[in-house]
Amino acid sequence: MIKLFLQNKHSIAYKLLKIVFTIYFSLTFVITLSHMAIEYKATKSRIQHELFSLEKSFKEAITTAMWELNNEQLYAIAKGVSKLPVVKGIDIVNAKDELQMSLGKTLVASNKSDLFFHQFEIHREFNNKVVFLGWVRFYSDSSVIIDQIKLGFFLIALNALIKSVLLTVLFLWAFRKYLFTPLNSLTQQVEKVNLDNVFDVHIDTVDENNELKLLENGFNHMLKHIEHDRNKLDERHKIQMAELNQLVIKRTVKLDDAINELNKIAFSDPLTQIKNRRSFFEVGHTILSVAKRERKAVSLLMMDIDFFKKINDSYGHHIGDEVLIDFTRKIACQLRESDLFARIGGEEFAIILSNTDSAGAQQLAEKICKIISLSTFNSGEVSLSYTVSIGVAQWRDEDTKISALLNRADQALYQAKNNGRNKVQTA
Ligand code: GH3
Ligand code: MG
Ligand code: MG
Repeated sequence: MIKLFLQNKHSIAYKLLKIVFTIYFSLTFVITLSHMAIEYKATKSRIQHELFSLEKSFKEAITTAMWELNNEQLYAIAKGVSKLPVVKGIDIVNAKDELQMSLGKTLVASNKSDLFFHQFEIHREFNNKVVFLGWVRFYSDSSVIIDQIKLGFFLIALNALIKSVLLTVLFLWAFRKYLFTPLNSLTQQVEKVNLDNVFDVHIDTVDENNELKLLENGFNHMLKHIEHDRNKLDERHKIQMAELNQLVIKRTVKLDDAINELNKIAFSDPLTQIKNRRSFFEVGHTILSVAKRERKAVSLLMMDIDFFKKINDSYGHHIGDEVLIDFTRKIACQLRESDLFARIGGEEFAIILSNTDSAGAQQLAEKICKIISLSTFNSGEVSLSYTVSIGVAQWRDEDTKISALLNRADQALYQAKNNGRNKVQTA
């Protein structure tokens, strides 16, 4: 866990740790340094004091040796003094300002700037006169101070180190307990939430009433809103779907009607409402294919109203139209469901009769001829009779197209016309 957030340079813990420890270490460094400087100064003045007290101990002996000009004794004293731990060197200067003796680290022996010394004058009373014999300097240097305060410095540094380690551990522990663990469990819970399970989800991972709890409350609040809004959206969606369904149903019905209307227009004759020429060829082709496969007889009646032009000329075009409708109605009621009746020209009609040979077809043709010729057409003040000529043909194996059958029936019709009209002629 610790590794995890220390590796992430954007982690809050990492940043906090960085800030806290930068401040802490800087302060510790400054305080430790000042502490050491004070300690250094105090030790130095203590050593200086020790050098001063050495004057009392050795002044008498040195004075005697100098007075007696006993260089051997003077050397022995100097040697003894220079061996003391606080003394690094000794200079003895005579009254003529000449260096009489120098031992260890001194200003003469080295130019080290960290040297410091205690100097005192040597006098001797003789005949009630004070005779000046010279000077003595006891030297010491920073290495003596450092020797003495080494342990102190070490303790100061150790103290700082222990404090830093303890602080780091405490910080990491506190971070783990109060931030990382609750934040982690909160994140895990939040990650499990998606739009499908947003209902009845309530996140409860943070125990303490702290900033994380606020975050958790905020999230729960947001979940409630999402749930509420989603319910609203669902309801709106349902209503819209229902409306859309209704609209689709209405449109579909309209579309079906339009398709039916279009089919009607495309495949039926607008005046008589029976099938038109195009439909006749399409449906007829299917009927003939089925009949051919099932080896059943099919016949065709080709009908043309006699002297129709005269009707138009005598009674007007609209009466001609009505006669065409009248003719259609009178024929249609004589036919079976399976028969295909169509208007294929101005006053020309055709019927394809399934399961019917030429004899059966001729029978029907004669019946039609008779019905038409015997009936009268009445419209307003107009009352008239008309006749029809019919050509009959039966489907033959060699016929490849419907037009072959139609041609034969047409030729038979031509003969019927030539034979005086109101006649049936079989091909
Ligand atoms: P035939 O006995 O030889 O068949 O003589 P016909 O007068 O019936 O034949 P013809 O081919 O000379 O005339 C057919 C007429 O039918 C000519 C045309 O104006 C008329 N006609 C065609 N379509 C319509 C229609 O939709 N309505 C009306 N009123 N007349 C039409
Ligand atoms: Mg005609
Ligand atoms: Mg005609």
